[in-house]
Order: sequence, then structure tokens, then C-alpha cells
Amino acid sequence: MIIVLKDRPPKNQVDQLIGWLKGLHVDVHVSEGTHHTILGVIGETSVVDTAFLSGLDIVESVKRIQEPYKNANRKFHPEDTVIELGNNIRLGSGSFEFMAGPCSVETEEQICLVAHLVKKAGAKILRGGAFKPRTSPYSFQGLRERGIKLLLEAKQETGLPIITEIMDLSQLPLFEDVDIVQVGARNMQNFELLKELGHIQKPILLKRGLANTLEEFLMSAEYIMAGGNEQVLLCERGIRTFETAVRNTLDISAIPLLKKMSHLPVIVDPSHATGIADLVKPVSMAAAAVGADGLIVEVHNDPAHALCDGKQSLNPKAFEDLVRTVDQIIPYAFRWKERKEDNESR
Ligand code: PEP
Ligand code: MN
Repeated sequence: MIIVLKDRPPKNQVDQLIGWLKGLHVDVHVSEGTHHTILGVIGETSVVDTAFLSGLDIVESVKRIQEPYKNANRKFHPEDTVIELGNNIRLGSGSFEFMAGPCSVETEEQICLVAHLVKKAGAKILRGGAFKPRTSPYSFQGLRERGIKLLLEAKQETGLPIITEIMDLSQLPLFEDVDIVQVGARNMQNFELLKELGHIQKPILLKRGLANTLEEFLMSAEYIMAGGNEQVLLCERGIRTFETAVRNTLDISAIPLLKKMSHLPVIVDPSHATGIADLVKPVSMAAAAVGADGLIVEVHNDPAHALCDGKQSLNPKAFEDLVRTVDQIIPYAFRWKERKEDNESR
């Protein structure tokens, strides 16, 4: 980190600042020029608050050389993180998996039927919302506790692990038998929730917020990891842009960028990223081609009558077709990766 001080700062204030920085266990190198004094700060600088420094009277500018996230940073963890569920599901490092199911759990028959159908199509993980974050308080809010019970029944019937969204800390005891806890886009910066999820030993699928940068996204992952839970899956689900033809805009370049910035697996949600069922397959193909580690797709047995997000939900047949098509793309994505690694090792 480089701190440029203003012209001729009072010595006692400079000494005070250096003392404060040293108290954070970082090293400070002072270079004094004719007009400017520059402090080079090295060591574990993620604990240094740049906003606080920028506000000091004697500080002209502050520049970070190193990213503020450490646990999620590929620089400190060059190998891909692989998250294992049971002994036959691996998420990350090139093993591509499909998570699929309805936006919300509606009835026992619905979730069990969809679970069987997505399993038959090749999904390894069943999704289903029990607690639903809805824009309108008058829309269906999910079956809540009963929704989780029904998901667990579908899990028992099919053997598929389950992923479902947590909206509030108070719901955590209900998630004991849930395999992956989803943190939705609207909660990406619910820091108290993230901190608490850092203390459980369960994979967390963290969705990118509607208007968050990749650095903010990784800082949220950092909140979970700093607590000791390293099993974080990053989910790109589209962001808000000026385009209204789609529900959100899938940030396709975020996928290879996140893989470069972090060692965590990257999962793509083509359903919320587009909001339109017809776009789900082509966008999924693109996500696979640029190196995603998996997809989370909304599938409903009767999309026209779904209680939530029917417009973007695939029917089971369309999902099967998506799996078949994406499966053909994955080997190409691998081949590209392998060829690149092979060339780099020569
Ligand atoms: C969902 O997965 O059903 C959901 C609400 O997603 P997001 O948080 O990405 O909007
Ligand atoms: Mn949904």
C-alpha cells in the first residue's frame, strides 16, 4: 500500500500515523522527497482501513497494491478449491455439475416429481426455495419451514443433496440437514449473516448482488472464509444494467475474471440472469464455454402455473436438452484449459 502525504505535513502527525500503522503489525517505509513524503506499507495490509486513511488531514492519496481479500485470493492459494459433497460430487477445478429444481417448493408432489425428473436428466443437486425474497410482500413468500421439510423428503426419495436459501440468521437451525446453504443476491452484503455462516462447516453458495463489483463480491466471500468456513461457491446470476429486455444482464466476463482472482468454484445461474426460459440454454452454453464450474437452473414440472419465476423456468424436457448440449461443450472448455497449461509448462 502506498500513502502519499500532503506537502510538508506536521512531523508529530506523521509520527502518529506511522505509530498507528505499526500498531496494526505492518511495516512502514518512509521516503521523503522535496515536496512529498511517501509511506510504503507492507505486510498484512488487508487490516488497514483505506477510507479512514484517505480522510486524514495529512493524507493526499492512498493506493492499494494488493487486493483487500486474502482467503479468497488466488495469489495466496494457487490451486482451485474443490468442494466435495458425499463421495461422488465434486464442485470446482473442472468437474462441472448441474443443480436444478423449482424456484420455490410448492407441494410435496411437485418437489418430489421435479427432483426425480432433474435427477434423470443428470442434475446432481436439487434446488428449491423455502424462504423466498420477493419484491412484493403480497407475492408468495415460500412454504418456509415446511418447504425445508419437503425438500428433505425429496432428498430422501432421490438421494440428491439439496440447496436452499437462508434469508435470516434465525432460520439457521432449520438448515442442519441442508447440504448447501444459498445466500441470495439481496443478502450478499448482510455481513452479520455472512459472519455467522463462517462458523458452520457447510458449503455456502454466495450469489453476487444486483449491483455489486467483483471486489465487493469477493469481500463478501472473505467474510465467510475469515470465520473459518472455506467452502464458498461464487454464483454469478446477472447484474442490473440499463437493459430492460432481460431481467438481469449476465456478466459473462465475470466468470473467467473470478476464476483468475479467486480459487473458489464459480457457478452460473442462467435463470435469474435472463428471466426468460428461451435464453437459459444459450446462456448456459456460454457460461460453460468460458469456464464455469457448474450451473444452477430453475426447472418446474408446469412452468405456466409456477408460484414463482415460471417465465424463466424450464420444463424437465428442456432441462434434459440443456444438460445434453452443455455436456458437449465442457470437453472443449477443458481442452482449451489443458492446452494452455501444457503450453505454459513447456
Ligand atoms: C433464487 O435463487 O431463487 C433467487 C431468489 O435468486 P437471486 O438471489 O439470485 O435473485
Ligand atoms: Mn427464482
